[in-house]
Amino acid sequence: MATEKDVLDALRGVLDPELGKDLVSLDMIKDIKIDGSSVSFKLTLTSSGCPMKKEIEENAKEAVMTLPGVEKVVVDVGSRPSKGKAGGLPPREPIEGVKNTIAVASGKGGVGKSTVAVNLALSMKDKGFKVGVLDCDIYGPSLQMMIGVKDSLRATVDGRIMPNERYGMKLVSIGFLLDEDTPVIWRGPMVMQMIRQFLREVHWGDLDYLIIDLPPGTGDAQLTLVQTIPLTGAVVVTTPQDIALIDAYKAIQMFSEVGVPVLGIVENMSSFVCPHCGRTTEIFSKGGGEKASKKYKVPLLGSVPLDMDIRKSSDSGKPIVAQNPESSHAKAFLDIAETINKTISAPAFSKASAGR
Ligand code: ADP
Repeated sequence: MATEKDVLDALRGVLDPELGKDLVSLDMIKDIKIDGSSVSFKLTLTSSGCPMKKEIEENAKEAVMTLPGVEKVVVDVGSRPSKGKAGGLPPREPIEGVKNTIAVASGKGGVGKSTVAVNLALSMKDKGFKVGVLDCDIYGPSLQMMIGVKDSLRATVDGRIMPNERYGMKLVSIGFLLDEDTPVIWRGPMVMQMIRQFLREVHWGDLDYLIIDLPPGTGDAQLTLVQTIPLTGAVVVTTPQDIALIDAYKAIQMFSEVGVPVLGIVENMSSFVCPHCGRTTEIFSKGGGEKASKKYKVPLLGSVPLDMDIRKSSDSGKPIVAQNPESSHAKAFLDIAETINKTISAPAFSKASAGR
């Protein structure tokens, strides 16, 4: 029969992926009870919204199940009462001078997340708002290319980072700091440090909207962001086919679990109008965004077609909303910005935010 020491030893092999230490050293394991082949214990997470909750619970269960004679493991997952600090991390605080922070996320890469982020930012600017864009996509920062700015970032006299500027927006990107051709292997702590620095040490000035382009998926960058600032909301970009929607759902779920309002889904590359014959082809299937919106109970903010002009304009440093704001494609982005703006300004939304 397993002993309490065996259980603790097994759990010493399970790490909290975020804090990089094992569950026993982090004092997360309590009340171990062994009844024949059945083991139960309390697992106390550092914060109630811990996005790694399921992963940690499953790893803990698996580790104890490997002990000889153990057939059943019951984990009672709880969290430490919040005292303003989560697991030794500084409390979440808004960025000084920035009214709204919107994360643009996706489950998969290549669905057009950065294209949406940049055109959404330009649309907000077009509506008269003061806007900043932060490109945190560690795997493929593209702001420098999409917006045609490659200058490195400068520091102010007091050591803060000065954003670059283009199209009347403040811009900060990991791409401004890296050499395009040199690969970087991003380890968790590096990602966290970089994102905290961008959120805390940039001189953003007064902004109505800071649009944050995240890497695809639900990893360290997302986690650091939600733990560092109280995000106003998240927009999830997806293409309409089922395989992308499954991953989009994971992103939606992650934000919901940590209490960030999901403002809605943007369906990108939704249909293709042939420039030669004018026929519409649903390359990535039809109605996926709407289906997902109903299934996951989040609004569909809008659909953006697959179009050569959108691709060309982004790749040439002048996104469609800057290049041709009157075009129907730019209108799709402007409408999405309008919907987001209305959602955020609604009294019910502000009231709910105040309670978060
Ligand atoms: P992600 O940020 O999800 O990796 P990007 O925004 O970098 O994706 O887009 C990937 C590629 O697809 C880019 O070349 C971009 O110009 C192109 N693209 C994105 N959205 C569209 C669209 N609606 N129509 C045509 N090309 C698009």
